[in-house]
Amino acid sequence: MVRQTIQIFARVKPTKKPTFFSFQVYTVDNEEHSGGSLEFVIPRDLADGFINNKRESYRFRFLKVFDQATNQEEIFETIAKPVADNVLAGYNGTIFAYGQTGSGKTFTITGGAERYSDRGIIPRTLSYLSMVYTTQISYLEIYNEVGYDLLDPRHEASNLEDLPSVTIMEDPDQNIHLKNLSLQASANEEEALNLLFLGDTNRMIAETPMNQASTRSHCIFTIHLCGREPGSATLHRSKLHLVDLAGSERVGKSGVGGQILTEAKYINLSLHYLEQVITALSEKNRSHIPYRNSMMTSVLRDSLGGNCMTTMIATVSSEKTNIDESISTCRFAQRVALIKNEALVNEELDPALLIVRLKKEIQCLKEELAMVTGEQRTDELKEQVKLFLDDPDPDTTLDLGPDMRKIHHCFLLLKVHLSYSLAFLSLPVLSCFLSWMYYFCSASSSGPELSIEQQEAFEIFRNDHGDRLTLEDNKAILKQRFAEAKALGEQVNQARNRVSKSFSLPPLPPATHISSASGVMESQPNPQSDTVEETLRSQIEEEKKNYKSTFGRLKGLKTEIEHLQHLLQRSKIKLKRDFQDWWSQEATRLQYWHHALHYGIPYYMLHIPFRALSSTTMSSTSIPLTGDHQTDADILAFIRARQSLLTRTGISSSIHAGQKRGKV
Ligand code: ADP
Ligand code: MG
Repeated sequence: MVRQTIQIFARVKPTKKPTFFSFQVYTVDNEEHSGGSLEFVIPRDLADGFINNKRESYRFRFLKVFDQATNQEEIFETIAKPVADNVLAGYNGTIFAYGQTGSGKTFTITGGAERYSDRGIIPRTLSYLSMVYTTQISYLEIYNEVGYDLLDPRHEASNLEDLPSVTIMEDPDQNIHLKNLSLQASANEEEALNLLFLGDTNRMIAETPMNQASTRSHCIFTIHLCGREPGSATLHRSKLHLVDLAGSERVGKSGVGGQILTEAKYINLSLHYLEQVITALSEKNRSHIPYRNSMMTSVLRDSLGGNCMTTMIATVSSEKTNIDESISTCRFAQRVALIKNEALVNEELDPALLIVRLKKEIQCLKEELAMVTGEQRTDELKEQVKLFLDDPDPDTTLDLGPDMRKIHHCFLLLKVHLSYSLAFLSLPVLSCFLSWMYYFCSASSSGPELSIEQQEAFEIFRNDHGDRLTLEDNKAILKQRFAEAKALGEQVNQARNRVSKSFSLPPLPPATHISSASGVMESQPNPQSDTVEETLRSQIEEEKKNYKSTFGRLKGLKTEIEHLQHLLQRSKIKLKRDFQDWWSQEATRLQYWHHALHYGIPYYMLHIPFRALSSTTMSSTSIPLTGDHQTDADILAFIRARQSLLTRTGISSSIHAGQKRGKV
């Protein structure tokens, strides 16, 4: 068992423009023996009428304070990697980010939506873990005390209520179970990242400008690991929660009303309950901890004062206007640091595996006996190696007992096998991947189909949209990475061909010979071995090294391409959604126009000029209306939308001026 207090770190968000004040209000000191400290220094307000040069200073201790210049890689290496290592060792882990809205919680946990290097803790941890163990993933959003499953694969969510709602159940042993929260299996990094992308897209789509759910909800991304050491019958089951909490700001300060106030109450209430739990835990001899008061504290029960190694990242903003909230975030962190958790390795014995292991042991002993009595033959060893290689179970073992001669011989057999099989390592996977990527790239983003008119307006809207530059940049980077991947792919193929060619030369006789009478191997000098062979061997070794390093680089590139692909896809979805919102707003506005027409606004006022970019046959001087209410509304919506777009791009004013001159 490991007893450990919750580890606390602080991260200061970069200010957009460094100002005199942002420089002044805080200092970071990581040189201290026992960790780092963050100090806020506020000059006393002189407006009180008397001169007071005293400064108020607030100093908080953390394990380490990450200043504005810290990048995502450093955050992962220092904070998340040690937690991930513990999770691999079978402990439960939690990392949660706490701070006011806009202080960088989502940026730290999930990452920025623009650059590959802005990947946050979740995608980096998935890359780190997925090579080792099989995983299952869940992604829960808690909004107004209701849980939602973000990994609903149906892609139909247009608001949060469309997602399956998750409820808490407690078994007789008081263990918490989440009903309706799906656990999705992911066999590799790519599948895990796809799940993260699905959850984030659902989270984004479910959010409207009136309902900024992402800042007012708690999101818990959980990775469940299960694995065992090769040959061991002990299973390790552990889970890692990566938590992006709602903004911690107080309601009174934000001055909100109506629906938003109700939400804020809920959020403040759940953060208030979190504080209550934390206060109760930090007090000695408290028997009752009020976990059940809110869904979030119930779900994170183990992470707070239970069987878990927990880390908190306090995200603070350095602007003077946010200093109250930053101080309150740090105060909260100091209380959190008092909580002691007791983490256990989550092990269980797999009886089926135990039987298999014991059977293998018996077999081993029998073989040893046979060896001693001279029954063992080298072909049996060959057969054993063959069975071992053919077994699809990645955890299978080659049990040879303690006899070093047998072990040496099997190693030799494996070496010969490895050299030959490398020559046949092909890259169909790579080419499949590249062609899939090309297909994926050219495919249009998901969402409802647009009519021809909408498509035309969408083109202009897209050129005008604020995210266009990021989108274009990412497209350009993606294109570049494709080209790099292609070039690397060719290099890998060439290296592979060179290795194959070397192997197509007559095979070298084995360097050892086996005495069939005793089943014992002896090393003997090979008469045919000469310098030519030696050169050939070293060439092959060199090519193999080459092949391995290029292949490694190619793999890294693949991860980057996938990530960029996700960013692009997300931007596309966002763009389409913004367009749909704008389009429906325009349509509503034109309904009013139509009514105005009925109430006497002259018809000529609706003669709207537009740019001749349409393939339709509309005249640029008059629009005949059909008299049908719905059709006319649609026609007018389109004209109005076009007009509005042209005005935004500055084209209409010039056309309009030209037309006026023509009429005069
Ligand atoms: P929160 O989730 O706490 O409300 P966000 O993570 O959404 O805040 O951050 C708000 C904005 O600030 C985002 O645009 C984000 O990209 C940016 N941001 C936050 N932290 C950093 C950072 N360390 N470096 C660069 N940009 C950041
Ligand atoms: Mg956020």
